[in-house]
Amino acid sequence: MNNKKLIAGNWKMNGSLAANAALLSALREGVGARARCDIAVAVPAPYLAQVQQLVANSPIALGAQDVSAHESGAYTGEMSAAMLGEFGVRYVLVGHSERRQYHGETDAVVGAKAQRALAAGITPIVCVGETLAEREEGKTEAVVKRQLAAAIHAVSHCVSEIIVAYEPVWAIGTGKTATPEQAQQVHAVLRAQLAAASQRAADIKLLYGGSMNAANAAELLAQPDIDGGLVGGASLKAADFLQIISAAS
Ligand code: PGA
Repeated sequence: MNNKKLIAGNWKMNGSLAANAALLSALREGVGARARCDIAVAVPAPYLAQVQQLVANSPIALGAQDVSAHESGAYTGEMSAAMLGEFGVRYVLVGHSERRQYHGETDAVVGAKAQRALAAGITPIVCVGETLAEREEGKTEAVVKRQLAAAIHAVSHCVSEIIVAYEPVWAIGTGKTATPEQAQQVHAVLRAQLAAASQRAADIKLLYGGSMNAANAAELLAQPDIDGGLVGGASLKAADFLQIISAAS
């Protein structure tokens, strides 16, 4: 594990062959050979092969947005960690709040996905975060700790190999970012929880996600326990994503 920050774009269900080519070409040109942070893009599955080519010999790593909790077999529509590995996938999001919310993913399923990813040599980015109602009820800590505990349990002795993304659900796609203080407070809780499970907790990357953009990235990334960003909307515009990369460099 290195101590560079990681800026990971989450394209969600956006893109096209033409748009991906234009975006990656602009990113490659903008990043040049001088990226001083780690960079990744988590792309829709149909574009893995295309983007694998587009990021070849660049500092941009390939990511996927989901992986099956199963190894192989009769799971129509799913993709295994081994399949992702064949396309050079280095990171995979697991338990994004949109998967938890729209696809009923439980903490146990998310943990199993993280474990499958690790077994295939892919780094899982385990997403945790509270809803607005949970925050207002004072349950933020309890919720993120419960979500992270399930992932820690599932990956057992490999805790130091995961990445954790704190994404308050109320901040995702809403333009409402957590303040740096709010984000840092939760990150410190997550760091302490990781420290209880791994001697290398200080090396585990904790990303913040939720309306991170060119204007707020530097302040968020300056927090002691924020080691990078998981960027949705702003990762689709090369200029914005490049500014976030600069803020992390
Ligand atoms: P956003 O999405 O940056 O558009 O809020 C972040 C995410 O969902 O990963």
